[in-house]
Amino acid sequence: MKAIFKTKREPGIEVFDVDTPEVGDADILVKVKAASLCGSDVHAYEWTPNYEFLPLPVILGHEFAGDIVQVGAKVTTVSVGDRITAMPGMPCGSCLCCQVGKPDACASRFALGLTGNGAFAEYMRITAGATIFKLPENLDYETASLTEPLAVVMRAVDLSGIKVGQKTAVLGPGPIGLFAVQLLKAAGAGLIMTAGTGNDSMRLKIARELGADMTINVEKEDIVGMAKELTGGGLHSGLDVVFEASGNPKSVTEAVRMVKPGGKVILIGIHSRPAEIPTTELVRQSKTIIGAYGYDAEIWQRCIALLTTGKVQVKPMITHRLPLTQADEGFEAAISRKAAKVIFVP
Ligand SMILES: [Zn+2]
Ligand SMILES: [Zn+2]
Repeated sequence: MKAIFKTKREPGIEVFDVDTPEVGDADILVKVKAASLCGSDVHAYEWTPNYEFLPLPVILGHEFAGDIVQVGAKVTTVSVGDRITAMPGMPCGSCLCCQVGKPDACASRFALGLTGNGAFAEYMRITAGATIFKLPENLDYETASLTEPLAVVMRAVDLSGIKVGQKTAVLGPGPIGLFAVQLLKAAGAGLIMTAGTGNDSMRLKIARELGADMTINVEKEDIVGMAKELTGGGLHSGLDVVFEASGNPKSVTEAVRMVKPGGKVILIGIHSRPAEIPTTELVRQSKTIIGAYGYDAEIWQRCIALLTTGKVQVKPMITHRLPLTQADEGFEAAISRKAAKVIFVP
């Protein structure tokens, strides 16, 4: 079978043929029908810091949907023919974090496409112990493959505690930002500003289609000034919640300045450098910064409901559908921001 491998500790990937994985007693073999390219795959491709832990060679990819084509002798929870997606993080179940019910913090969990072979392949082996979701009949593979990034954003929106009518901004119109726009719309936000750079013009256009009230090019406009102006101006103006999904440390500083006294900044982006925080403003104006990471099965169920009913739209976000053999094209489109979401169709 063909698969997209990270093979070297330098930028790049390789596509080549390997044997289809063997299935053990407690394993499941999935025929991958759609696998979506995530920011973390791009980090692995570019070989940015914090990815040294990858055991090479490894098949990348963790956002997927597919058909079960083989099950091990001891597997009773799913059957051949089931259409599924699954949570890519498989906690060890025995460390202290796992025992106290914080599997997100498990340091020795198996991470699909990072610590072990993932979904950018024709077939993928997962353990039956994974958190697996059967797809409703009217949920297609491509849409279902985006459950994972949507779940990341849903936790962030949950943590914001947003109330109907509150004013918000999303910084960074990548796939995570575009999902944030949609969930904020679903949550009844009174204003959704979305900001990006000149390179993001295509993504900002999609943001408007998906519910952003206004889009801003941060290279041309003063986003902090606009947030204040739109909320009455003066010392006590500002947004209720700002989501940072750009990964640019500068935008964390701006996010803190954009929220009103008592407002919240939710960080979803991964920043390669530390950000500068205006601490006095944070303290005197009782502002809060919250880091959002991971999800749980209950969040996944809610995401699948939103995707199945079409209340969250993925089709406008999918700009590329490519075979595994055109992997480089997909990664390069994501890096140059010509793509919103790239789907590999093995
Ligand atoms: Zn992902
Ligand atoms: Zn653990």
